[in-house]
Amino acid sequence: MSTRRYSAFALAREALRDHLGWQRAWAKASPKPRYDVIIVGAGGHGLATAYYLGKNFGIRNVAVLEKGWLGGGNTGRNTTIIRSNYLQDPSAAIYEKSRALYETLSQELNYNVMFSPRGVMMLAQTEHEVRGYKRTAHANSIQGVTTEFISPERVKELVPIIELKGPRYPVLGALWQARGGTARHDAVAWGYARACSDMGMDIIQNCEVTGIRSEGGQVTVVETSKGEIGCGKLGLVVAGHSGVLAQKAGFRLPIESLALQALVSEPIKPCMDVVVMANTVHGYMSQSDKGEMVIGGGTDAFNNYTQRGSFHHIEETVRALVETFPMISRLKMLRQWGGIVDMTGDRSPIISKTPVDGIFVNCGWGTGGFKAIPGSGWAMAELMAKGHSPLSAAFGMERFREGRFIDESVAAGVAH
Ligand SMILES: Cc1cc2nc3c(=O)[nH]c(=O)nc-3n(C[C@H](O)[C@H](O)[C@H](O)COP(=O)(O)OP(=O)(O)OC[C@H]3O[C@@H](n4cnc5c(N)ncnc54)[C@H](O)[C@@H]3O)c2cc1C
Repeated sequence: MSTRRYSAFALAREALRDHLGWQRAWAKASPKPRYDVIIVGAGGHGLATAYYLGKNFGIRNVAVLEKGWLGGGNTGRNTTIIRSNYLQDPSAAIYEKSRALYETLSQELNYNVMFSPRGVMMLAQTEHEVRGYKRTAHANSIQGVTTEFISPERVKELVPIIELKGPRYPVLGALWQARGGTARHDAVAWGYARACSDMGMDIIQNCEVTGIRSEGGQVTVVETSKGEIGCGKLGLVVAGHSGVLAQKAGFRLPIESLALQALVSEPIKPCMDVVVMANTVHGYMSQSDKGEMVIGGGTDAFNNYTQRGSFHHIEETVRALVETFPMISRLKMLRQWGGIVDMTGDRSPIISKTPVDGIFVNCGWGTGGFKAIPGSGWAMAELMAKGHSPLSAAFGMERFREGRFIDESVAAGVAH
């Protein structure tokens, strides 16, 4: 059954008949005995991979298996910052592809993902950061990514609530990406899920992958909490659980899993319409459409799977931000949560073939993979369909053995 389009007319029609005519956004599916492709993990990256497999390559006999609920991992837990101001060429290429896809994603998916290109600002609060961000702005101009280094006066113009002369670190300027911004995280997952379901793919929730079998070095079967399912190709797209799944398939990944947390304040009147990141003091903030100040900080300093985060991080993050935004000192915090992020040594992702034929892995997005969802799905789908993708070529896992690191510890090692 094909899905009816959402539109202003549909809204009016349903308003006139008590909203009884809306369809399910995606079909409830049970596993078939076999699929051409199975994707493990119904987060943004897994769903986007499935979507572009169908859309760009016509591969539609696909299942996406999710142990919990769709979008319930990091995709539904992040602070939604979207930017592409990375230093290295392969990173700028994939993040900019992603940012560009976000520009028209609502129209493409016929689902409002609320992309808001309100501008992202990374504050320079030391001389070292000034030099670093000027260098990034130069690199970005060669890469075709539009960013600029702006003065403290311009920062104040864009963010009137900022204190430029903080007690420890004055604001010396900022790296500004005017077309960076935010999007609604759940809607990104839901929009891709709806489009996948519309193409006839099965999205199977509450279906945990518990084992992976191969024959003669080729993947054949995944064992799940809903039984065994055969597959031609398998994509592991499970963020913080990538190491666990790789172990089940018989290989190791250079990934560490850490808790990263965020919090929101009580809602207040609009006071800041850009995203501000203060990486020296390690905190960042934006204002949601509901008026909450959305605040994030750093990862725990030890590996864990708690989906909670250590208490002292909240204090450290808020203390740091109060220096730059004194007015938030009087706000009450509403709620806090955490997710398990998948960190690589060079702070760049892995989109790669693996030692087992037919198994592909997409992980290592760490603290910053929400922004990459469309571009990552695009590249992973191409890799799985054709065996090669120009966008993902530099992100193979063999780079750790060969010493070809894509060092983004400055652009991506900060939390966001
Ligand atoms: C607090 C926080 C703030 C962040 N802020 C930002 C930000 O501002 N901007 C940004 O770009 N990024 C941000 N990120 C990072 C971003 O959220 C992630 O990089 C991104 O969402 C990863 O998406 P994913 O699809 O790879 O993983 P997930 O969304 O985590 O999806 C993986 C899915 O795999 C499922 N799974 C795991 N094991 C199994 C199994 N055995 N069987 C079946 N399913 C399984 C999980 O249940 C999960 O749903 C933040 C992350 C956190 C935690």
